[in-house]
Amino acid sequence: MKYKNNKSKKYKNVSVIKPKACPFCKSKTLIKWGFRFNHTTKKQRWKCKSCSETFTLDDGFFKMKHKKEVVTQCISLYMNGLSLRKIKEHFNQFSDYGVSHQSVLNWIRRYAILLKDFQRKFDLKLSGQYHADEIFVKCKKEQHYFWDMIDKGTRVLVSSHYSEKRDYQSAKILFLKTENKPINLFTDSLPSYNKAFRKVWGSRNRKEDKKIWIKLKADKDKRNNIVERIQGTIRQRIKVMRNFKDKKSAEAILSLFVVYYNFIRVHQGINKTPIEEAGVNLNLGKNKWLDLIYCASQKN
Ligand SMILES: [Zn+2]
Repeated sequence: MKYKNNKSKKYKNVSVIKPKACPFCKSKTLIKWGFRFNHTTKKQRWKCKSCSETFTLDDGFFKMKHKKEVVTQCISLYMNGLSLRKIKEHFNQFSDYGVSHQSVLNWIRRYAILLKDFQRKFDLKLSGQYHADEIFVKCKKEQHYFWDMIDKGTRVLVSSHYSEKRDYQSAKILFLKTENKPINLFTDSLPSYNKAFRKVWGSRNRKEDKKIWIKLKADKDKRNNIVERIQGTIRQRIKVMRNFKDKKSAEAILSLFVVYYNFIRVHQGINKTPIEEAGVNLNLGKNKWLDLIYCASQKN
């Protein structure tokens, strides 16, 4: 589509969030001050009445060539299990903008970084019953590992880690990435868990420790049922994403997958997202990825 001149062009106003305070002086007296335009959209500009600076908000799509709807759609399709090749085909067929493998991977990387620690902002109400597990991941024909830890009551993925080896160090990092000591920790009999547990959460009283850390015999123990099912779902999704090109993309993709799992995906058993089950309601709209990125981009 081409426009004759700028006057006939209809700009879409894409500003949906209001700034809470001036980024320069933190004053809260702000007024609307015209718009900033790019080739397809316009964005609300704000003026601070205290320091007279003007600014627009970074909504998470700053300097992006593609429309944010396209970007978030690609991420959504990928997380729902569509391959990069199929996403590319879809957009080349139905949209004005071509989308390449690499641009989808770049977006995934960008938002993996933005959303990596987003979960930590919230005070989650967890059950404290943690189940840790590790999954094989193929990367450049090598066998790598995706470690994850699920809070049984809410199904929140409280921690995850990507590693090349199935060793003590990796299990330790997995534990260290959570903020609280679990009430109970369930794992399989992998020796790394034992060592890592002692290092991170162990006490002098081994008897007490044994009440907290519980080793499960995979097939026989029913306490593991719900979590086994969740692990199954995660395994299935990761299988579709198989054959990661390099460690960096694998890490980014899996890190964004955790965000998808906790914030976006509605679990059938609870009819909510795990984060909602943990007492946080972000009121995400129809395009959940878009709203999530807006939320995470707000610094105030
Ligand atoms: Zn100001």
